[in-house]
Amino acid sequence: MCKSNDLVAYENLSVRNLLRNHCLAKSISDASWYLFRQWIEYFAGKFGKLAVAVAPHYTSQKCSTCGAIVKKSLSTRTHICSCGCSLHRDENAAINILNLARQARDGQSRSNAVGLVASTLLGESLLEQATR
Ligand SMILES: [Zn+2]
Repeated sequence: MCKSNDLVAYENLSVRNLLRNHCLAKSISDASWYLFRQWIEYFAGKFGKLAVAVAPHYTSQKCSTCGAIVKKSLSTRTHICSCGCSLHRDENAAINILNLARQARDGQSRSNAVGLVASTLLGESLLEQATR
């Protein structure tokens, strides 16, 4: 993932909070989400790519086409907006996450955005830890 992409974007999820939701706890633990994220940041640092964690607010609810908030429960798997946009909910969220990461990256090139620097530094510190 990090080798073949210049930018890897993901939600800055609190695993601890997600584990409090008993419906989600087992699948999140099984997927070792935290470890997965550590590896992404490690390899992004290793290959000189950007790993950007974005705020998870409204990534599922927001329409990736028009920006409207379309409320839906976890069991609603399709995002359908009045603007005509119809996508799987995860695809809609993924587009929103990528757009937020691009904004952070483009802001970085202009003004040194804090989040991006933190991600890069995190990748470097993990690299240091792994080589000790
Ligand atoms: Zn829309």
